[in-house]
Amino acid sequence: MRILGIEGTAWAASAAVFETDDPDALRSETGRTPDPAADHVFIESDPYQPDSGGIHPREAAEHMGSAVPEVVETALSHAAARHDGDGPVVDGVAFSRGPGLGPCLRIVGTAARSVAQTLDVPLLGVNHMVAHLEIGRYQSGFDSPVCLNASGANAHLLGYHNGRYRVLGETMDTGVGNALDKFTRHVGWTHPGGPKVEAAAADGDYVELPYVVKGMDFSFSGIMSAAKDEADAGTPVPDICAGLQETVFAMLTEVAERALSLTGTDELVLGGGVGQNARLREMLAEMCDQRGAEFYAPEPRFLRDNAGMIAALGARMLAAGDTLAVEESTVDPNFRPDQVAVTWRGADES
Ligand code: ATP
Repeated sequence: MRILGIEGTAWAASAAVFETDDPDALRSETGRTPDPAADHVFIESDPYQPDSGGIHPREAAEHMGSAVPEVVETALSHAAARHDGDGPVVDGVAFSRGPGLGPCLRIVGTAARSVAQTLDVPLLGVNHMVAHLEIGRYQSGFDSPVCLNASGANAHLLGYHNGRYRVLGETMDTGVGNALDKFTRHVGWTHPGGPKVEAAAADGDYVELPYVVKGMDFSFSGIMSAAKDEADAGTPVPDICAGLQETVFAMLTEVAERALSLTGTDELVLGGGVGQNARLREMLAEMCDQRGAEFYAPEPRFLRDNAGMIAALGARMLAAGDTLAVEESTVDPNFRPDQVAVTWRGADES
């Protein structure tokens, strides 16, 4: 089975063609210029880069308008080159249906519909956050992990129960990456701020900042205001970055540990662009080690927004017959993971 995946929920457009169900093969994909011998292809455009400030939805959509067709065309030509001549070039088209920025999602949805209709193959509407979880579950071989999704616009813990991924805990305000990006904008750094926080924190001394966990939920707005106040008061920015990393990631680690404890699960996977941060992965790995749980973080290109995870989940949805009629394929900027009926897992899994 060969599936085209299309991603473009916010600022990074990519397309992937996923050809087998071998998790190791998925790791050996090619880069921007496809290797004709590779089973899988993963084409990423340069992400949208705001001139100043954060992501502007209209500008991001303008970027998607040219980036999405470009990556889709390259991925499809790769699939065509490997095609044996019988049947369509791909067997299905999977796309990020949400959550994300509405103007960007609409471009992704339009591209997916037009390819699916042109080739007369099924459409697969993938929940972007469930795809973050599933790529970790798939690559790790874990049975039923808890997932910490730490991305730009989201921060939550997911666990499977009775046919759905339940939200066990989540942010009460902004996503974790967006919170870091807001602080870095305040100190004059360009988007994205997360990697710059990580680099600066290496030279910083920890500064205490508010730690806000309430039950299974957490909040970032107070800590970001306090971090901005520290910067305005002249505290060295690397010190604030060190305080931000330790505090925000400790909050996520605490709730991840509680999610493992409450569900009785001993497997944790990480998803989302903030998961590229080495200190976050270190804290989660240490926590899991201490309680005898296993931890898996996909490699960076499968943590940030990527079409590989969309194609890989789309393949399993197609195998389960979970296709989407074109007339019902509107995108959903607020598509929550617990709205998804998980059709691709065994009926006997609880
Ligand atoms: P979502 O999956 O919620 O749609 P998104 O579209 O914003 O998220 P992602 O690629 O998942 O995209 O995550 C991007 C975020 O990750 C940005 O906020 C960025 O600052 C943050 N980020 C990237 N690298 C790092 C890092 N090394 N440390 C901390 N944050 C990082």
